[in-house]
Amino acid sequence: MMDEGSSRMNIAIDGPAGAGKSTVARQVAEQLGFVYIDTGAMYRAVTLAAQRAGIKADEPGRLGELTHSLRIELEPGELGQTVKLNGEDVTSLIRSREVTLHVSSYAADESVRTVLAAMQRQLAARKGIVMDGRDIGSHVLPNAELKVFLTASVKERALRRYREIQGSQDISLDQLEKEIAERDRSDEQREISPLICASDAVVLDSTGMTINEVVHAIVNLSRTKLAEAK
Ligand code: C5P
Repeated sequence: MMDEGSSRMNIAIDGPAGAGKSTVARQVAEQLGFVYIDTGAMYRAVTLAAQRAGIKADEPGRLGELTHSLRIELEPGELGQTVKLNGEDVTSLIRSREVTLHVSSYAADESVRTVLAAMQRQLAARKGIVMDGRDIGSHVLPNAELKVFLTASVKERALRRYREIQGSQDISLDQLEKEIAERDRSDEQREISPLICASDAVVLDSTGMTINEVVHAIVNLSRTKLAEAK
């Protein structure tokens, strides 16, 4: 664990769906003694709340009002991060297929993004944060001391997801690959803060790399950044 003084940095990890961001970000945070924040979970929580309220992704007024009213909390839990929506534990519910299939449409809404980005900046204000998402280095924390763009081929990402969910959902590898490619497309093409590699981000292609190798590479990069800053 790093000491208090050296943890005065933020690390942004962006990239497409299934690149391993959350697993990697969580482990990097653990090794550095930083706090991990999964911004995808926040978009998922908004999606779940909107679906429950019968609000569609193309209803900006109602969606904005709803997002403003939500209390979303991320807490360290036994299985990684516990996500609470107005006090209710929704950690598993936000990973459902219903949420996964529609989250990109809700995430394209301007007011949803404005509210969540403000929350994320507030969470990162004290530094010592590893935050993963799509627009962290490019938009939410443009001054993050280390930015990583973590990617892998669509095939590899689909295969990882397939192994992860095997048995629990009735879906083929082909179908998963199509859905991941579709989510990439809508995240990259939305008008407001799309998925983009920040110009000062380090690109890491994790195809063929183990999680440990990726974590190690990022921890090393952060140590280099800290040494440079001294
Ligand atoms: O990371 P995860 O796959 O859980 O994210 C779910 C969705 O939330 C993404 O596909 C994207 O549409 C949205 N998202 C976003 N900006 C972020 C994090 C996630 O638009 N910073």
